[in-house]
Amino acid sequence: MEDPTSDLAEDLSPEDAPNCRVCGASLADVPDRKVVTWIADGEVQTAHFCDATCRDEWDRSQ
Ligand SMILES: [Zn+2]
Repeated sequence: MEDPTSDLAEDLSPEDAPNCRVCGASLADVPDRKVVTWIADGEVQTAHFCDATCRDEWDRSQ
């Protein structure tokens, strides 16, 4: 039996999917999302973005 809803989340459940740091869009079905990582206070910080536009916007606000 096929589950038609299983396509989008092969290794990422909707609850685990990140949201765009700028516009808040769910990135579960955005395969080319941008990820930025950096070190702050000795910990790895991660920010996800739906595209380069949101990433640039976040860059400018830092
Ligand atoms: Zn976005």
